[in-house]
Amino acid sequence: MKKVFYRSWIAKHLLFAGYSTITLLAWVFTKWSKTEARQSTINHECTHARQWIELTVASGLLIWIVMLIWNYSAWWLICSVATFYVWYILEWCIRKMIASVLADCREDYDAYRLISFEREARLSEKDSNYLENSTYFAWMRFY
Ligand SMILES: [Zn+2]
Repeated sequence: MKKVFYRSWIAKHLLFAGYSTITLLAWVFTKWSKTEARQSTINHECTHARQWIELTVASGLLIWIVMLIWNYSAWWLICSVATFYVWYILEWCIRKMIASVLADCREDYDAYRLISFEREARLSEKDSNYLENSTYFAWMRFY
């Protein structure tokens, strides 16, 4: 299945100037052509795509089990699509709150860079085989 969309209409119309690539759900959209694209950026974004898949499948299974036990509607499964984004924003908010507490003593604290998903994605930038060789849910080791 195609994962990276080069010279993407979505990337061209969705991203601000200065931004080239975005991951939406399990796909990566970039303004660049395949020859222009930086491999490190593609590796980074593909890692986010896998993180989204991992959390969507895991939360979907949990929701499905809850549905079976308590007879909830299958519509709740749609929530699994948003799990990665909710988790990402929650972690950023928590780290931002920590940053505000530590602001006086640590000026180098960067909430965005410390998000576990970002830490794993940065780790994958220099290794084009990272996704093949890493374990699922590897981002959890950054907690
Ligand atoms: Zn990232």
